[in-house]
Amino acid sequence: MSAENPDLAIAQAATLRPLTEIAEAAGIPLEALVPYGSTKAKVDVRAVPAPAADAPRAKLVLVSAMSPTPAGEGKSTTTVGLADAFSQKGLRTMVALREPALGPIMGIKGGATGGGHAQVVPMEDINLHFTGDFHAIQIANNTLAALVDNHIHQGNQLGIDPRRIQWKRVMDVNDRALRQIVVGLGGPTQGVPREDGFDIVVASEIMAILCLASDLADLQERIDRIVVGFTYDRSPVSVADLGVGGAITMLLKDALLPNLVQTLGGTPALVHGGPFANIAHGCNSLAATRLALSLSEITVTEAGFGSDLGAEKFLDIKSRLGGLTPDAAVVVATVRALKLHGGVAQKDLEREDVAAALAGTENLARHAENLRKFGLEPVIALNRFPSDTEAELDAILDWARQQGFHAALSEVWALGGDGGLAVADEVLAAIDSGQGPGFHPLYDPADGLEDSLRTLAREIYGADDVVLEGRAPAQLRMLQRNGWDTLPVCVAKTQYSFSDDPTLLGAPSGHVLHVRDLVPKIGAGFVVALTGAIMTMPGLPKEPAALRMGVTEAGDSVGLF
Ligand code: ADP
Repeated sequence: MSAENPDLAIAQAATLRPLTEIAEAAGIPLEALVPYGSTKAKVDVRAVPAPAADAPRAKLVLVSAMSPTPAGEGKSTTTVGLADAFSQKGLRTMVALREPALGPIMGIKGGATGGGHAQVVPMEDINLHFTGDFHAIQIANNTLAALVDNHIHQGNQLGIDPRRIQWKRVMDVNDRALRQIVVGLGGPTQGVPREDGFDIVVASEIMAILCLASDLADLQERIDRIVVGFTYDRSPVSVADLGVGGAITMLLKDALLPNLVQTLGGTPALVHGGPFANIAHGCNSLAATRLALSLSEITVTEAGFGSDLGAEKFLDIKSRLGGLTPDAAVVVATVRALKLHGGVAQKDLEREDVAAALAGTENLARHAENLRKFGLEPVIALNRFPSDTEAELDAILDWARQQGFHAALSEVWALGGDGGLAVADEVLAAIDSGQGPGFHPLYDPADGLEDSLRTLAREIYGADDVVLEGRAPAQLRMLQRNGWDTLPVCVAKTQYSFSDDPTLLGAPSGHVLHVRDLVPKIGAGFVVALTGAIMTMPGLPKEPAALRMGVTEAGDSVGLF
């Protein structure tokens, strides 16, 4: 275990309740469980009875955050701890999280099972291969890639232009060497040479589709709609044209089932699907969220990064598509991120600086105001770190209350559910106050892609305007030709800034959003807009976390966090 990070030690020391008990308490019949060992199971949603028609609608709480430092501000930690707090208050609670990806685990940010005494367990399994969903998505994605190349090699009946293939291969590791490659080298029996490239699994359209599909039939319909590329006369080629949608769906049939685990506090947790929010839509699966809502009085879920990324996509893409009506939104803030936005250098973030933390509130305030634009009442959860001082914490909470925000200190990392009771009370107060006008998405996709982008840029990022550059203007014309410019937009953008420039901290205004690529994801049902320098295959840092990892003779992991 790493001395500075006790997450793994706490998780390894925990005594887990039998998952059958967790399932029964949650109202999941045992015949719906597909066990993967004794602490993880898939849930066959078809075998879970629907709630009674007159059952009250479960409350849905979305956890988001201010613009983060590279280490993350504790969104998953807060989500888990808040759910344990609701459980302690006697509410039937479910938590719905994304599955961790190996890229950040091996890289810099670590896993995604929460931290301290607010974790989902078994932490090691969930962070490593879990129930194999990411592998299934990877192989489904790459099977399709192989089938496309094989189609071209075998005579190319559909006339696919090898220069206009948009379906990439994927891998669950940050591997910059594979961003741009040439495949098919070696002569006529080795295929047709063409430029290709790898994305990370969490950016795969298959990941997005799995996270938005209602059931197997919808999954197949979406897979059939995927556009893999274009013919020589620029007509789109879909999976349906290739006739392989059935095979790809078959590879995903188990991965579509939500995974049940538990929190350290014994709250049932569904951990399922895992698109990143900076390069994809950033939310756990709709299937898991719906299951959680059907079983609980209150469901706590998270979406990646801030109100400008995961939360916006949760509200404009997932909730719109899935008919979800979130009731409140939590914005996780930390003194260290506030200081970063207040001008303190990364290396000095542990030094007390009340003035800088207060200066950084402009970033937090914009995130909270952004959520109000969707009709949600924000609750600020100030996630307490060991290096924070009372003066810093008090100053931020005073500021938040003076601004009229619901706010409370979150100590779930140190105390588990007990440390989340104050935030839980604020969330319930925000829901009961009826202060928000009620949830509504921000833009109407029917107004066209440029309008949707401009609304997001101005309302959420504080930008003056949007410019389409590089390939984007021609791509917009292609989208318009095909009738795809009225789909919702999924913006790929840095998580560090409201703008597309990661160095522009605080609450920048007057900037311009630079869109360099518009990629149709017709199966997922949105258009990805790549902005600034964001990449769909990240790289590993100079000192990856992998350097500190290993395994003991007894088979326990070392260095996971
Ligand atoms: P996010 O979901 O925002 O990326 P996580 O919840 O995964 O953030 O937390 C990131 C890391 O920070 C984890 O290693 C976690 O243990 C640690 N962490 C979170 N909250 C605290 C805290 N209050 N004190 C100390 N470490 C924390």
